[in-house]
Amino acid sequence: MRSEVETRPTVRYPDGHVLLRQLTRDFPIVSHGEGVYLFDTRGQRYLDGSAGALVASVGHGNREVADRIHQQLLRVAYVNGNHFTSDATETLAARLCAGAPGGLSRAAFLGSGSEATEAAVKFVRQLWVERGQPQRAKVITRVPSYHGNTLYALSLSGRPHYKKFFGPMLAEVVTTAAPYPYRSGLEDYERDGTAHYLRLLEETLLREGPETIAAFIAEPVIGSSAGASVPPPGYFEQVGALCRKYGILTIADEVMCGCGRTGRFFASEQFHFTPDVLVLGKGISGGYAPLSAVLVRQEHLEEMRLGSGGFMHAQTYLQAPCMTAAGVAVLDFYEKHGLVAHAARVGAYLQRRLRETLLPLPHVGAVQGVGLMAGVELVEDKESKRPFARSRKVVERLLALLFEDGLILWPNTGHANGTDGDLVMVGPPLVITEAEIDELVEKLAAGITRLGEHP
Ligand code: PMP
Repeated sequence: MRSEVETRPTVRYPDGHVLLRQLTRDFPIVSHGEGVYLFDTRGQRYLDGSAGALVASVGHGNREVADRIHQQLLRVAYVNGNHFTSDATETLAARLCAGAPGGLSRAAFLGSGSEATEAAVKFVRQLWVERGQPQRAKVITRVPSYHGNTLYALSLSGRPHYKKFFGPMLAEVVTTAAPYPYRSGLEDYERDGTAHYLRLLEETLLREGPETIAAFIAEPVIGSSAGASVPPPGYFEQVGALCRKYGILTIADEVMCGCGRTGRFFASEQFHFTPDVLVLGKGISGGYAPLSAVLVRQEHLEEMRLGSGGFMHAQTYLQAPCMTAAGVAVLDFYEKHGLVAHAARVGAYLQRRLRETLLPLPHVGAVQGVGLMAGVELVEDKESKRPFARSRKVVERLLALLFEDGLILWPNTGHANGTDGDLVMVGPPLVITEAEIDELVEKLAAGITRLGEHP
């Protein structure tokens, strides 16, 4: 492997023809990866501390997974769902549904999280039309939140600054506050959080008129938009009960927090949420293929079948075998290596190490999260939780220091007040070991220390 690295060119591509790239930085060229590490063509090693964007669940260079996808590709390039299903697709659907929370027994597979949240909401909207209640068109979403970048998914995302060039957004999206331990403003989040956020949600839906609301969408553990915010105890049981009381359907977006990252395969289960629709992405294929999933209830699909004939949604890459084979191979790897139990065990270690090492440092306001999903929030003033002004680019400078030192993490900005705020997401591959967690935490602490007293 080493000699292969050294013979590769060492050029960088500072400003080529790639559209979506920040032009203020030049990028090293990735060569290959092994487990939690990535290597560039100069042979520099990086710990992939956020698995890209919390994607690479089974690590890099995973032969067990890659070989299985290769085998599938040799069998067939592509088939359309109008003509064929495949072993891979049927197996993935059956295995995901067998373990899914309450009654989710049908699955569709798409290529990204955005497509999947969009399809989930369209599914619910169609269901209400089939039921003769087309006025139930609004969807309640939470702020902060992130559900994707296509126009409907972006409309549903509680990220004001992502939307500034694209308004007006799709109408019929209603917002309520999302649980955010560090910024809840509550004296005792654990004790009072559920009642507080439930009251806000009920006020919202009564103001809008429950009979106009199709669904409520939420990430069980909020991703980078709120730094791995964990709900207060009982939150999702009570949200579920409230939504059922008003006939509102619920959608769990587990694109980031699903597939074992929180220490259970389905984060909804961990937080006692039994959604009507559940969305997975990212870790489901570990980055080995574009793949996401939408899980729904058989009885809802049956209502559509008896009505118009079925869910009105199709895309070219819908359950293509090359995608679903990646999902099956990843699930097999999870099972064979007990990866969810491993993630729960080392995740508890990561959470403890992050808190004990980082919280004493200047400017570390909070460490939040569960399992192998954590958010570290940097603030100018710990007492008042005042964020740094965005113009200081604190998180960008920190991530550049860490990158130089061989640690890659995922940034987030604009969560504190829509503009300011500096957050680092930690979410390594689930295969990470305790020794590798030590390296991650020590490098992150060293980087924050290098930023100094007055970043
Ligand atoms: N939902 C959540 C919770 C996410 O974290 C993301 C991606 N960060 C998405 C949806 C969108 O997924 P994708 O980028 O694959 O379209």
